[in-house]
Amino acid sequence: MLGIDLDRADHGFQDNLRIVATPAARGLSQLVLRTDIAGMPLEWIDYKEAARLYHQEQVAYTCGSPLYKLYGGTNAASGLRTMLEVNSIVATVGHTGNPGNTRHDYIPPLNNQTLFRRDAYLCMYCSMRFPSRELSRDHIRPFSQGGLDIWTNVVTACRRCNNQKASRTPEQARMQLIAVPFTPTYAEYIFLKGRRVLADQMEYLLAHFPRSSPLHDRIQRWLS
Ligand SMILES: [Zn+2]
Repeated sequence: MLGIDLDRADHGFQDNLRIVATPAARGLSQLVLRTDIAGMPLEWIDYKEAARLYHQEQVAYTCGSPLYKLYGGTNAASGLRTMLEVNSIVATVGHTGNPGNTRHDYIPPLNNQTLFRRDAYLCMYCSMRFPSRELSRDHIRPFSQGGLDIWTNVVTACRRCNNQKASRTPEQARMQLIAVPFTPTYAEYIFLKGRRVLADQMEYLLAHFPRSSPLHDRIQRWLS
């Protein structure tokens, strides 16, 4: 173990320990992308968790850019101060118990935040972009007609379109979807869950999306 008390270090400066966020991190809240040894994306972790993985010698290699430098106490024998650099992407050994990593039929949980992101904050009926608070989850085939609350039966809709559609299918309401809803893969889901995804993390995740993923285009539009 390096001599760093991570809980005490939370606020940046202590007697003999210090955390420095690089300009890329823009503060201590930037999350690190953890992958397995084969490079498959697993989860988002904070710098403390990343530091623990280093301490436990779980980190096999790193990618991306340095986000944090953690300076610890001075080593009595060498007189050198311990320093740990945490990168934006860390590949780790061992298991996480994460089902998405091994199961191809894994279905990520559905929630509005990830749904709106999947649809790039566009209403899937009028194709206008809205902030989250003005969006809603539309069930393409409504509950009242046996529709399910699953990724392939839900789309992002603005309140106006959702009201207009009411408890009808798009055909019954004479409304047309601008895109086909899809269930995200695990890598896509990790991206959709990210609070602030750095350019190198985004590039890394994109490389793990299926070629046919609509997110390739949507992210380009998002960035433009
Ligand atoms: Zn709309």
